[in-house]
Amino acid sequence: MLDLPVHKGRRLKLISELEHKGIQNKAVLEAMKRVPRHWYFPKDFENLAYRDAAFPIGHDQTISQPYTVAFQTQLIDVEVDSKVLEIGTGSGYQAAVLAELGVQLYSIEYVKPLLQEAARLLVSYRDKIKLIHGDGSKGYSKYAPYDAIIVTAGAPTIPQELMKQLKIGGRLVIPVGTERNSQEMFRITRNSETHFKREKFGDFKFVPLVGKDGWL
Ligand code: SAM
Repeated sequence: MLDLPVHKGRRLKLISELEHKGIQNKAVLEAMKRVPRHWYFPKDFENLAYRDAAFPIGHDQTISQPYTVAFQTQLIDVEVDSKVLEIGTGSGYQAAVLAELGVQLYSIEYVKPLLQEAARLLVSYRDKIKLIHGDGSKGYSKYAPYDAIIVTAGAPTIPQELMKQLKIGGRLVIPVGTERNSQEMFRITRNSETHFKREKFGDFKFVPLVGKDGWL
């Protein structure tokens, strides 16, 4: 797939827009400069890929707004080689940004055709990303504990199982709301075996997290 100067130009403009909106983490901004978002977009709409907006990717799902991707990625506060679980692979765009940050990523997606398409797009990151098909509302205990868990769909409550799968010092970033399409962003930090710090970071709109500990 091509990444032409016109795409790069639009991407740089988008990233500077994100900086103006308050994204400060340089590593996150640099990683987003390197990922061609139009590759993760439906083919006929590539020209819309560098607007700061979510967009439908089929199966009633969306690729998240770039600002939201940057905001959540900044909140999980990862380093090279951090072990990260993403719940909701979707288009694969957020996963690519995390791989560019050098993390070891496990990404789980409920909708099989979306996962298959993401797998095709993420093939160059196969050493960094393990893709899993299934219900991530209970996390993925096989590879736990994680330095960070990022949930890219809106949950009705904070699943206890996700908190248990954090390392001490680990962070869970999750949008939570009592309505299916409106949430507040939470960051839960595991300070000890039994103590968790809870912070809130404003309102967002995500598609619902489905599954056992999500909306059924
Ligand atoms: N990170 C994605 C991206 O960069 O495109 C955003 C994807 S979209 C906002 C949320 C995704 O979460 C959808 O693809 C949806 O199918 C998935 N999802 C919802 N509930 C899930 C669950 N219980 N387990 C795994 N994936 C889930």
